[in-house]
Amino acid sequence: MQDFNIKRAWFTGEMLAPSVRKTLEENYNIDTYQAYAVTEPGGAIAYECSSKKGLHLMDEYIIEIVNPENGKQLEAGEIGEVVVTPVHNSTWGLIRFGTGDLSSYTDEPCPCGRTSRKLTGILGRIGEAVKVRGMFVVAKQVESVFAEFKQLAKCQITVNRTGQRDEMAITAEICYENIDKDKLSEELSKRFQSVCLVRPDGISFVPSGTLPQDGKTIVDMRKWE
Ligand SMILES: [Zn+2]
Repeated sequence: MQDFNIKRAWFTGEMLAPSVRKTLEENYNIDTYQAYAVTEPGGAIAYECSSKKGLHLMDEYIIEIVNPENGKQLEAGEIGEVVVTPVHNSTWGLIRFGTGDLSSYTDEPCPCGRTSRKLTGILGRIGEAVKVRGMFVVAKQVESVFAEFKQLAKCQITVNRTGQRDEMAITAEICYENIDKDKLSEELSKRFQSVCLVRPDGISFVPSGTLPQDGKTIVDMRKWE
């Protein structure tokens, strides 16, 4: 393979797809790093370190994750809107700029030694999120959970409402029949709850090829009158 003499590349546009990152790193030997930039407050506001698990927040900004409906700060792990206030700009001010991007943060210690809080990634735009029992659920996050289960070919979640309660059901296509479905169901439910913070109300398994081919990960069946 030709050596282009590039050992490191930074990405600041759309988040890098895991498959593209894998190709760049494994096939081309290019070490990739992502940064999250927002033009209005001044550019890059978070960046990846060598652990590549989340993006450290930069000191030049106050970065909050808030409920877009009321602007209140959310806890670690909860998905909300990224809101940015630059604090070192001496020429102009911008207070609590709403980016429209969805993310969550973590306070877990990072192996790199930096102590700043990290964004877990950019999960999509506000309009793409579905609210289930008060929590935002985004397709990207759901897909990352499903991808961990090699026994599953494809999955879809359906959100419905019974009375005043949102109900969320998972339908999963399984790759082969002789699977311990009870065990898989329990593992999937646990993992889903720990990542998306919402417990699925039901999980059903169907043969491969059953789910619609429309590529929708989340189907919201609720009617808003
Ligand atoms: Zn780090």
